[in-house]
Amino acid sequence: MDRLIDKFDRPITDLRISITDRCNYKCVYCRTGNEGAIYADLPLADYLRMADVFVELGIEKVRITGGEPLLRSGVVGFVRELSKLRTPDGEPLDLAITTNGHLLAEMAQPLKDAGLNRVTVSMDAVDPERFARITRVPDGFHAVLAGVRAAKKAGLEPVKVNCVLLRGFNDDQIVEFAKFARDEEVVLRFIEFMPLEEDRVWSPEIVVTFKEILERLRAFRPLMEIPHKRSETARRYTFDDGIGEIGIIAPVSQPFCGHCSRVRVTSDGKIRTCLFSIFDHDLHAVMRRGGSDDDLVVFIRKVVQKKEERHHIGEPDFIKPSRSMVHIGG
Ligand code: SAM
Repeated sequence: MDRLIDKFDRPITDLRISITDRCNYKCVYCRTGNEGAIYADLPLADYLRMADVFVELGIEKVRITGGEPLLRSGVVGFVRELSKLRTPDGEPLDLAITTNGHLLAEMAQPLKDAGLNRVTVSMDAVDPERFARITRVPDGFHAVLAGVRAAKKAGLEPVKVNCVLLRGFNDDQIVEFAKFARDEEVVLRFIEFMPLEEDRVWSPEIVVTFKEILERLRAFRPLMEIPHKRSETARRYTFDDGIGEIGIIAPVSQPFCGHCSRVRVTSDGKIRTCLFSIFDHDLHAVMRRGGSDDDLVVFIRKVVQKKEERHHIGEPDFIKPSRSMVHIGG
């Protein structure tokens, strides 16, 4: 079967599936704090069927996300089923989860045993008090730290820690995070804040840019760039002594849309071709109507042709996307 390629010749090899719209954190830059889940969760078997069809079409990497995916009961069994899928070349999938890590300490080993390869933990401060102010959950920091350590112990490597930086809010944590990466032997990735929040918080001034992050890191210790593949979203660095890896993902100041290989499925079974899409495409509706796998293939192919060329963040014609990050699946 022909693999998925969009009209800009970008091969689509990376699928992100949100398996729940619920989240146990209320990060101030992501959520209003008043809204709960907005969209439905589907039976895990439905996500599995969608993943199966996508994999037949050339998807090689599946990332499970949310909401908070570890809240979903049955997630370990879901990983086990996904790990049985094979790419058209007969290879197993690269299987990852993005989580806030709150429930990871208990689940890291079972997830590894089920076939998960890697985990990314979101953390926006390495100071427990600041962490609580951001997440609006008391005592989360130590639970997440235990989760990060459990993931390392289980061999879910490389364990990546993602930090979204907001000026005047947690940008004083840049060097602290670098020390954290070195001490805990995790890959740290700073991510520029994007206009994907429930509330209106975003402004160009609040984004801590790639250039600025580098300057702050260089003031701490000299940096060396690690060669990266063209398709990689992160520019990667280590320090002069080779200890610690820091990536910077800069979708705002250095967009990488030209080699975007992603599509997303939301918790209610809609395909999103870009984080900044204004429309969703209801794949689950095809299933509800009793569509065959061939019908799903036809639908997916058509939708992929609508993948946007690029985002328009910071431009006058920018239109706020139809969903915020937590309801898309980051
Ligand atoms: N609950 C999981 C977690 O915390 O990783 C998965 C969902 S969460 C929405 C996925 C990621 O999106 C988190 O790393 C979060 O920090 C990031 N995120 C949320 N809003 C963002 C925004 N406006 N810009 C950049 N990243 C954002």
